[in-house]
Amino acid sequence: MNVAVLSGGVGGARFVRGVVDVVGAEATTVIGNVGDDVEVLGLHVSPDLDSILYALAGLADEQRGWGRSDETWNALGTVGALGGEDWFALGDRDLGLHLVRTQALQAGEPLSAMTQRLAEALGVAVRLLPATDDRLRTWLDTPAGSFPFQEWFVARGHRDEVDAVRFEGEEAARPAPGALETIDGADLVLLAPSNPYVSVGPILAVRELREALLRRSVPCVAVSPLIGGRAVKGPADRMLQRLAGGTSPRHVAGCYPGLIDALVVDEADADDLEGLGEVRPIVTRTLMSDADARRRLAEAALGAVPA
Ligand code: GDP
Ligand code: CA
Repeated sequence: MNVAVLSGGVGGARFVRGVVDVVGAEATTVIGNVGDDVEVLGLHVSPDLDSILYALAGLADEQRGWGRSDETWNALGTVGALGGEDWFALGDRDLGLHLVRTQALQAGEPLSAMTQRLAEALGVAVRLLPATDDRLRTWLDTPAGSFPFQEWFVARGHRDEVDAVRFEGEEAARPAPGALETIDGADLVLLAPSNPYVSVGPILAVRELREALLRRSVPCVAVSPLIGGRAVKGPADRMLQRLAGGTSPRHVAGCYPGLIDALVVDEADADDLEGLGEVRPIVTRTLMSDADARRRLAEAALGAVPA
């Protein structure tokens, strides 16, 4: 069995761990978001790919929810003391990865090949592909102006309401090598409980990937990132309220028109399943509080595979 998972960072990474627990690393390919990628201090940072790598390598800081465990911040402290750019928190261990990746990209290696090398070096057996090797960047239009993703999310603490999400470079972006084949060759496609607008959205902005999903002959199942209409973390609920008009399962499903056959929703949202149309609801507990919970959620989503 081949499972393709479209994933953002932290929420997606948790879910991917559950999927890998159930079907194994060999059967799982992750297509990750690069719309959040950012150049900081001359370094190329791919926060969502790194969250997945760190989670699968067992290096993630579960307490903080992002970055590496056992992290120190000496380099960033020096940057700040010297009046450098320190708004984007990069720990010492994390920086090591960004140094290696940046050098490879500057030498002309595609992001997908470099990601593969990082995965191998970290002992991650799951195939992790960026959606594209091309430059694709998420922008948010807000009442306070337009901001690149990390400026809105990190520097401004995603306080601005979002009127529109745009993807710079989407017209020219081609799928990374293997990404199209992953979707076309999958027995099941899963959309992680990641932010539909800024995590899964940029992946689907790659036209050939979106078209591959539209013409799929296998089920595609999304997992809602909302519990009781609220995001577990981050701005997904506020974005849905403003951009889709609500935070019910139908509003989440509405982010994926024609792209999903089922939506996994939390028990807390089970009384509000109207308006889903062709999309079949799968009701379960969706809070990934530990390995068991991650696994159960993955099993619920994977249950859509015809025997
Ligand atoms: P990011 O790229 O690091 O922001 O992470 P993602 O976009 O992949 O994940 C963020 C989303 O994950 C948020 O909208 C959260 O509501 C959702 N999320 C985080 N933990 C859980 C969980 O345990 N269960 C569910 N259903 N959603 C979660
Ligand atoms: Ca992200």
